Amino acid sequence: MILYVSDSGKFSNLPALPKNRRLEETINFSSLLIKENLKDTYRHKGMRRQLIVQLREKGITDEAILSAMDQLPRHYFLDKAFEEWAYQDKPFPIGKEQTISQPYTVAYQSQLLEIKKRDKVLEIGTGSGYQAAILSLLGARVYTIERQELLYHRATTLLRKLNFNGIRCYLRDGYKGLPEFAPFDKILVTAGAPEVPTALLQQLTIGGVLVIPVGEKGQKMLRITRVEEQKFQKEELGNFRFVPFLKGINREK
Ligand code: SAH
Repeated sequence: MILYVSDSGKFSNLPALPKNRRLEETINFSSLLIKENLKDTYRHKGMRRQLIVQLREKGITDEAILSAMDQLPRHYFLDKAFEEWAYQDKPFPIGKEQTISQPYTVAYQSQLLEIKKRDKVLEIGTGSGYQAAILSLLGARVYTIERQELLYHRATTLLRKLNFNGIRCYLRDGYKGLPEFAPFDKILVTAGAPEVPTALLQQLTIGGVLVIPVGEKGQKMLRITRVEEQKFQKEELGNFRFVPFLKGINREK
């Protein structure tokens, strides 16, 4: 299926919108370029299987995560023109200088979260929506926030289209978390933070876990567990490179 929208907002050669299409969908698409390919062929499935083999080789052992990543077509989250890249273990640009995380990073962060069914999870940095969809397939109740309006609209639209109706998307500044829905069993930050935002620590349940990459240029993955109201236990894990965790909302289309 193709959405006829371009970053430059041009609508030439486009078929008329279906009569029943909602106005806000029409507006949101005016500056989006998403040529979708929502077909999952044997070729895609084969490439995905190879990717899962690589993830195992790199040390991912959680079968539920491997199975979710085997099920979910990552190419749906990239523009059709780039689907060849979808099954390489690499991050990939998704617009607004942001990237869909590398599959290994998605698997690694998900593994650190030790998701249990019905866990209430806050993801910061919706980006393409891929990580949110994986968390949802793992049985989590997912809340996800994004600061780039363009990406927020794209991801929301795509997730609805793929029937991830339970994922709640918000256009927010992740530094503040999502206080009205706190506390969360798990919080996942998918951008490189200069420091750990206190608001996020405060929005964890007791026993809750925050996974956050911290550092300016490269980041160290931290897993922080709230063991008591005012007591947090910190584990320092591997080195990663994420796009930066920025303040405020960017409404530019
Ligand atoms: N989880 C995403 C990865 C996106 S990259 C995926 O699966 O595709 C990180 C995302 O974090 C970017 O989209 C970026 O815009 C967003 N981001 C950075 N700082 C943020 C903030 N303060 N609040 C919310 N989102 C933020």
